[in-house]
Amino acid sequence: MSRPIVICCAITGSRPRKADNPAVPVSPAEQIESAHEAFEAGATVLHLHVRDEQERPCFLPERFAVVMEGVYEHCPGMIIELSTGGVAGSPADRAASLPLRPDMAAIALGSVNFPNGVYHNPPEVIDELARTCADLHIKPCIEVFDLSMVYTARTMCDQGLLREPLHFHIVLGGQGALPARRQVLDFIVAEIHNLFPDSTWMASGLGRHQDIVMDWALYLGGHIRTGLEDNIRITRDELVASNAQLVRRAADRCMNYGFRAASVAEARKILGLPSVPDR
Ligand code: MG
Repeated sequence: MSRPIVICCAITGSRPRKADNPAVPVSPAEQIESAHEAFEAGATVLHLHVRDEQERPCFLPERFAVVMEGVYEHCPGMIIELSTGGVAGSPADRAASLPLRPDMAAIALGSVNFPNGVYHNPPEVIDELARTCADLHIKPCIEVFDLSMVYTARTMCDQGLLREPLHFHIVLGGQGALPARRQVLDFIVAEIHNLFPDSTWMASGLGRHQDIVMDWALYLGGHIRTGLEDNIRITRDELVASNAQLVRRAADRCMNYGFRAASVAEARKILGLPSVPDR
């Protein structure tokens, strides 16, 4: 049977504005609709950031709660992964929505010099996010913006702060972080296999690197991520029309490899999550 691929859709992110692409969903109603369309197109994981009334990134638990409720209602079984990151936000803000008990939460295991500022992830913040996830039975998605973060994950597993099997998200093509180079992904994936034999991973390429990184990830046995957080253009001159358009494109790429988008049940099994959402 062809390999089921978990497609994660990052519908909003903390950076793109409507001025950049009017299709970026920012209000809770837009986010629920966009998540639903992405789900129908084959996305089984929703990576979620929320915005305030001025489209600024925020961490208000009420905002997350409204979107989560809508997704529970309209996208049965879809895996919800909350962001705990972005350049803005105090450590307390970043953890404030974890008591909503999403299936997963993204945690970056180190700091990065992004073009819009330093993405601060000091050890005590990372440890606290990992502890909170463990206490609340939330599976962390380990965001890898730099090679060192893979080894930090190993140390944290050895210290009992993280529990295997892990799920990694390797981010390529971001300024100030890992470049979108095939050799880089090959090496990181090999190290993940060496150090975390039972773990799973996905990769994403930012902006114009999205398609090529998807191909590499499929070829190397990984899962994939798409969405307007990562890429707002479908070609150099044309804006993406919707998150669903990107998910359909990702699902088509799976077919090119003889694979297919995973069902919700398959995605939950692959990621080691309860088959029925635990809420
Ligand atoms: Mg994000």
